[in-house]
Amino acid sequence: MKRRKKLEIRPGNIKTNDLRRNRLSFRIALITIVSSLFSIVAIELVYMNMKEVIRDYNHVVEVDYANAEYMNDVMVGVYEHQAIVFHHMAESKSQEKRALMEEADEVESHLKEKMAQFEENVRGTEYEIGYHDLFSLMSGYIHNVKTVVDLSKSGETQTAYYTMHTKLEPIIEKMNSQIMGMDQAIKKDTESLMEDMRESTDLMRIVTRVMLVLMLLAAIFNVSFCLRISEEMISRDLLTGVANFDKLIRVGEKMRRKKKNHLVDYSGLAISIKDFKFINQEYGSVVGDIVLKGYAKTLSEHLRHGEVIARNGGDNFIALIEKGHVDEFLNNINKVPVDVGEKLGLTLTSRCGIYQINDEDTIYDVINAGLIAVGETRLSGAKDYVWFRQERRDEMIRQKDILSGYHKAIDEEEFVVYYQPKVNLRTRTLCGCEALVRWIRNGEMVPPGSFIPVLENDGKVQELDFYVFDKVCRDIGDWQRRGIQPVRVSSNFSKLHLHNKQFVDDVLAVVDKHGADPYYLEAELTESSGYEDLDAMKYFVSEMREAGIHTSMDDFGTGYSSLSLLRDIDMDVIKLDRTFLRDENDAKEERMVENIVRMIHDLDRKVICEGVETEEQVEFLKRVGCTMAQGFLFDRPLSREEFEKRLINPYYS
Ligand code: C2E
Ligand code: MG
Ligand code: MG
Repeated sequence: MKRRKKLEIRPGNIKTNDLRRNRLSFRIALITIVSSLFSIVAIELVYMNMKEVIRDYNHVVEVDYANAEYMNDVMVGVYEHQAIVFHHMAESKSQEKRALMEEADEVESHLKEKMAQFEENVRGTEYEIGYHDLFSLMSGYIHNVKTVVDLSKSGETQTAYYTMHTKLEPIIEKMNSQIMGMDQAIKKDTESLMEDMRESTDLMRIVTRVMLVLMLLAAIFNVSFCLRISEEMISRDLLTGVANFDKLIRVGEKMRRKKKNHLVDYSGLAISIKDFKFINQEYGSVVGDIVLKGYAKTLSEHLRHGEVIARNGGDNFIALIEKGHVDEFLNNINKVPVDVGEKLGLTLTSRCGIYQINDEDTIYDVINAGLIAVGETRLSGAKDYVWFRQERRDEMIRQKDILSGYHKAIDEEEFVVYYQPKVNLRTRTLCGCEALVRWIRNGEMVPPGSFIPVLENDGKVQELDFYVFDKVCRDIGDWQRRGIQPVRVSSNFSKLHLHNKQFVDDVLAVVDKHGADPYYLEAELTESSGYEDLDAMKYFVSEMREAGIHTSMDDFGTGYSSLSLLRDIDMDVIKLDRTFLRDENDAKEERMVENIVRMIHDLDRKVICEGVETEEQVEFLKRVGCTMAQGFLFDRPLSREEFEKRLINPYYS
């Protein structure tokens, strides 16, 4: 494709380009107006000229016709006169002769009159000379006619005839040829006028055509210019001036169809600015915008011909970079200095997900893969540049599948609550249980480990927690009504609830709804919940205590500040993570666990260990003073029906 240098918008100087575009569009409009005015004037001039030619022509034709008529009259008169004269000469009776002579005089005066009119008509025209010739011939004629008449009057008929023959006839002949000559001149005159007119018409046609062609060209140019401007407008990201998402899709699809510069020759890069959110929050959105413009400018400066960069909202950019150019490009955009004015300069770090495009990929596949890879750069401990991995895509598909099936699953009660017993190690009897959710999807049981984190990531898990808690409250009431002695049931609540001011009320509302005895309820929150909002957690714990509901800290020991949490948050139960059972033969480890357990007891909390699978682990726990356990050694999570059997027979061998 031909590059259109003049119209190309470069990021960072949008204003200049806008002005330039405006000026160009103004110039084109001016050219169109001037050429239209010029056309109108030119056509008007040619039209006036034509009108003049036509008027001249009409005048000349009118004059010519009149002259021709006069000349005709003159000749007819001459012949008539001559006839009378002949007759006169032939007549003998004097009376008749007189009458004839009177008639001849009449004709003569008529002739004179015609000649006078003729003179008037041709005065100042090119026929004037012709007239003078004709007039002198005419005078000669009249003079000779007089001679002839006089001769004939005096009876010298012979001489009269002779004179007539020798003098009058040549004059008449000359007059005739003179008139014919003048006739020719008239004809010629008319022809040249016709020629003038033809030329004028041709000129008019040429001028009109040229003008029309010029106007047409201006119109076409204007239309194509408008199309280009609107194409620019719909293809550009207004803030940064790089291509927008739609343009990227169009370019990508076009590249896919092309043989040269084929999509497969490129890599898809999803790029974003590290900590851009922070820049926006810290310096405000005006600086944020300047940063984006400067960043986009640098990205586009490192593009090669044929490569594309597009903004996909926020600080997200997608680029198509030639496969052989990717490393160099990444090097160039690793650290991007941006000057944001007022002595504030920032150096931006890029995050980038890179995807090697395959033969069958559409531009959408490329974008998705890039986004998946750049998403990985946000995971803790990840690098700033991550190449796309197929497993990650599969994972994303799986997550999407979970999210899309989730609401239907809630509505159609595909989620089922299982209960995993907790056991008193001293008496080996059931002392509680944990409610654990299962998803029966298309007849198969899906463990929570594969969907809880996905829902949690997407902020959707809260609904499920309450779904489970609702069933727990319902089951406790149900067991009591049926005379089955319940045990305390702990329910898992995600840390996301802590952001919700209604959380406590929502929990209590469910308890009330089923009239469940709070004594049998326990809320588990993972240790990590405390890092994020210590105050909210403290508040929740105290409110639950007030309501008579126990709380427990799940997965204790997996975080970094377990001990300080222990001090800060007054939970009823601490659930040791199964990592504490890693090496029960290690004396040092044993002493450490023993001390932790003692400390928990000293703080007046209960302690339970999760994931107990062997009798050795039971012995270890007993040695370190932990008297409660939960694990496969005793029971796997059980369906409600199976768990009811356990409630009825709470003893382990
Ligand atoms: P968790 O709360 O720490 O639950 C204990 C997990 O350890 C359960 O896995 C349980 O089946 C498993 N487990 C118990 N004994 C053993 C054992 O001896 N060996 C081994 N290897 N594992 C054992 P599960 O049911 O797959 O649940 C996994 C996690 O899913 C839970 O960990 C909890 O964090 C979450 N979860 C389950 N149900 C809910 C729920 O309703 N809401 C929320 N927010 N999270 C839930
Ligand atoms: Mg738990
Ligand atoms: Mg746990």
